[in-house]
Amino acid sequence: RVGGIGDWLDYHALHHADQEALVVGALRLSYAQLLHRATHMAGVLAGRGVRKGDRVALLLLNGSEFLETLFACARLGAIAVPINFRLSPAEVEFILGDCGAQVLVYHCQFTPLVAPIRPNTPLACAFYVPGSGAPMPGDADYEQALAAAQPPAQRTSIVQSDPHLMMYTSGTTGRPKGALLSHGNTTWNAFNLLLSEAGLSSDDIVLTVAPMFHIGGLNIHTLPAIYKGAKVVVHPQFTPAETLSLVQRERVSMLFLVPAMWLAISQMPDIDQYDLSSLRVLMSGGAPCPITVIEFFQKRGLCFLEGFGMTETAPNACFLGNRDTLRKNGSVGKPLTHMQMRLVDASDQDVRQGEAGELVLRGPNIFVGYWNRPEATAEAFRNGWFHSGDLARQDEEGFYYIVDRIKDMLISGGENVYPTEVEQVIYRHPAVREAAVIGVPDEKWGEVPMLVVALHEGTQLTLEEVRAFCEGKLAHFKIPKQMLLVPALPRTATGKVLKRELRSSIIGADK
Ligand code: ATP
Ligand code: MG
Repeated sequence: RVGGIGDWLDYHALHHADQEALVVGALRLSYAQLLHRATHMAGVLAGRGVRKGDRVALLLLNGSEFLETLFACARLGAIAVPINFRLSPAEVEFILGDCGAQVLVYHCQFTPLVAPIRPNTPLACAFYVPGSGAPMPGDADYEQALAAAQPPAQRTSIVQSDPHLMMYTSGTTGRPKGALLSHGNTTWNAFNLLLSEAGLSSDDIVLTVAPMFHIGGLNIHTLPAIYKGAKVVVHPQFTPAETLSLVQRERVSMLFLVPAMWLAISQMPDIDQYDLSSLRVLMSGGAPCPITVIEFFQKRGLCFLEGFGMTETAPNACFLGNRDTLRKNGSVGKPLTHMQMRLVDASDQDVRQGEAGELVLRGPNIFVGYWNRPEATAEAFRNGWFHSGDLARQDEEGFYYIVDRIKDMLISGGENVYPTEVEQVIYRHPAVREAAVIGVPDEKWGEVPMLVVALHEGTQLTLEEVRAFCEGKLAHFKIPKQMLLVPALPRTATGKVLKRELRSSIIGADK
């Protein structure tokens, strides 16, 4: 029988029922307990009419309810739709309307986000998890509903191509798109990570602080750890000090964070007071990681692996192997086992080795398609390959380097400028806390690079100093010709720099 991800819990509950599955604050659930709660939640949802193919929206902090509801949906063949709780009510209204969810599970602190727009959505009922703030009138308490429910009498038949998750993309380049991921996608994603050099054994303890409404928080190591029967420590929200305290207390062995979080940790004045000796692997992805940050952790003897992934690839596509981290900093490694990657030009022909081309991918973890967006889906899948919209190059040993998003590249005097390359140099300046480079219009050159920068407290920086610093490190046409000092860069909920916002506010338009 070919089943879905719901079967993972049955397997572990059968073979090592008492193994700890989930730790959230004082709550500790074994695999048997997690299975019990997920099956009862499936009963709750079935009781409200949720059937195969239906969508269930999640507006939840990281916590057990998130994973229980996700697995409950998986058992019913329903589709979990995690929603970013940092969005505005209008954006949440768009997503609820777009996905057509009739059921919502939410933390009470998000009542103000839903209450004003709820009448405009297809929601028929909702379950609340207590938190700061009151629930909306008429909704049911999650815990009470679970206690009163029975698991569904019959298992829904699931095949690998059935969707179980609709994950909205980060919205870095425009309105978030709902990427539909199947049971097979999530399984192959997990399998690929297990086969990778980072490995993942049932002795591993992974820590999830990146939000699970983003593919990185959910699928880089969280669901793969459950697939393997390892332990997942979940924390509701990121702070540098709480993250390191948890690493120390729970003896965490594997930690994925997005670069903005690693940056914040590397800037903690008391970082060396924490015992990080249990950390076997540090992982970063979702945006370019400053090499200075990678070096910071390597100097402390830690193994730092940068990887590349997208919501559409579920997301694990490639990771730098343990053996290569020191000598290949800045690379995202090679494709995972069941993943093929090529670099192509505008007419879909392979570029020459060493040249930048669009990264296209193929493999069993690539998503089904964008929800309600047939043109975007057709645009992304061409000639059987998924087109990422990212430029990458490969070195002579086959290692991949993400150059930049095609949309962020600028052309100055006929030469391509890749902002990430310029930012990597500027991050080495001691005054620089955060840096972003965008293209701004220029009469002579068409476009020129502009540096938008936030400085460390008590420091100063002029454009002349930046230009002198870059001299000899970058070709002249890549060196910023304009500079803007800002207190902080605008970022998405997962810490990606919102360059479209910078472009709109500085030049009055996005590309
Ligand atoms: P949207 O698609 O809505 O504009 P998004 O592309 O940021 O948002 P995600 O799916 O979260 O949404 O992110 C995938 C993107 O993140 C990739 O296409 C790539 O641009 C970027 N990315 C991921 N990993 C890396 C990395 N290691 N280095 C550079 N960029 C990365
Ligand atoms: Mg994208």
